[in-house]
Amino acid sequence: MQPNCTDLIGRDIAVLGRFIALYCRGRHSKKQKAVVRGKGKIEQYIAPLSISLCDECTKLLLYAASKRLLCPYNPKPACKDCETHCYGEPHRSRIRTIMRYSGVRMILRGSVTYIKKFF
Ligand code: SF4
Ligand SMILES: [Zn+2]
Repeated sequence: MQPNCTDLIGRDIAVLGRFIALYCRGRHSKKQKAVVRGKGKIEQYIAPLSISLCDECTKLLLYAASKRLLCPYNPKPACKDCETHCYGEPHRSRIRTIMRYSGVRMILRGSVTYIKKFF
């Protein structure tokens, strides 16, 4: 059975959360962290993740989640192949850095699901 749109958005936001959390643990280990909470519709996707991030990574996750929520494509292409490029700077550069950092570590751990989708 094909997953519905809400499932796909939830899955993508969970993947984003996983990538950003791995990066935050590795690169921002000394920064203070708090459980991420979203506002409005985003909260329904963020709350189940129960992840703690620093302030900078929290803002990035909420930004990326809002972009995913508003993505006009279905099926969604990999962001790197998209002509819309809805991410503004510096978010775009930051998310690429995180995808590279966490992607390599996930490959090393054997968790390669979804990585192609975001690179
Ligand atoms: S960059 Fe393109 S594919 Fe990625 S979220 Fe934005 S509109 Fe959607
Ligand atoms: Zn962080």
